[in-house]
Amino acid sequence: MRITEIRTRVLRWRGKTLPLAPHFCTNPMDLLELPEASMQTFTFHGWLVVEVFTDDGHVGLGNAALAPQVTKQVIDLYLKPLLIGQDPWDLERLWQHMYRKTIAFGRKGIGMAAISALDIALWDLLGKSARQPVYRLLGGRTKARIPVYASRLYSTELSKLAEEADRYRAMKLRFGWGPVDGASGMQRNLDLVRTVRESVGDGIDVMADAYMGWTLDDAKRMLPLLEPFHIRWLEEPVIPDDIHGYAELKSYGRVPIAGGEHEFTLYGFRELLEARALDYIQFDTNRVGGITQARKIAALAEAYSVPVIPHAGQMQNYHVVMASLNSPMAEYFPMTDVEVGNELFWYIFQGEPKAKEGCIDLDDNTPGLGLTIDESELERFEVTE
Ligand SMILES: [Mg+2]
Repeated sequence: MRITEIRTRVLRWRGKTLPLAPHFCTNPMDLLELPEASMQTFTFHGWLVVEVFTDDGHVGLGNAALAPQVTKQVIDLYLKPLLIGQDPWDLERLWQHMYRKTIAFGRKGIGMAAISALDIALWDLLGKSARQPVYRLLGGRTKARIPVYASRLYSTELSKLAEEADRYRAMKLRFGWGPVDGASGMQRNLDLVRTVRESVGDGIDVMADAYMGWTLDDAKRMLPLLEPFHIRWLEEPVIPDDIHGYAELKSYGRVPIAGGEHEFTLYGFRELLEARALDYIQFDTNRVGGITQARKIAALAEAYSVPVIPHAGQMQNYHVVMASLNSPMAEYFPMTDVEVGNELFWYIFQGEPKAKEGCIDLDDNTPGLGLTIDESELERFEVTE
């Protein structure tokens, strides 16, 4: 099997988009006190879709959501030329070639998102070529179904939040106030957590996400205040580069600390694990370097007994979770009107499993990752090829 062509397309949503209210979700821009809603910086209204074609008629499908226009350029200019003519089964070598070719600029961020998109497409190809679902190539089924938690509950009126919380069996909420909002902002954050916890009771997992929006000082002050609500984890309390901050927060042992969706490659996660920075690892397969890296990070995390609960769910992550006993659960973005853009995946791809009774399952008889694109649906997008 040889790779004959690679097609990259950026799909930009043209349909209705719900506006984001102030204090919708804390984020790293909050400290700058800009006039516009800062969460706009972290929306995902465009998506890169990559297809890898082979001489025996298979098509592998991959994707990336970080800076899709630029990620497309990295693939088209630097990565595509080295893959054309190659055998996808030499995947480890191809990954190393892509990594080493772009190492001067690509180790983290956009370069790695580009490698990830192609790597996911290549694994999809291997599965289709072997007529096996990808998780079977990764070691097979470790669980009957994958428990998922609903990842939404953005900061809003408390009555609406309570209503939404009642729909889910496990869930994650977002904080709305950060360092510039002071002690009163902290109390408003606690109101959010208290509302959800009281609404669902004690027998349900509740997680809470600061989305990189706090300083270490803020996070240290919040930990003891959060403790009574026994959340399963506090996610991304500080910016991803503050590994020492993560380690300090974890060392208090008051609230479990989660992160990693903005970290890259096996080397990045070795640093986090060696620093004892996280109680839960949340890599995202379409950022860390694809399934080729995700499986290695999962193995390393297992050796440290740190569970892996990947960012975003979605097929490229679900297959890794299914094949790993150290992944007890997956994230799940419920299908909603387009808002932040996490939910845009539902509008682009078919085959994404829907949660039933708090779990998703993968089909033993669907080769590859199990995703397709309905080309007729792309009318709702501006497509850049
Ligand atoms: Mg997150």
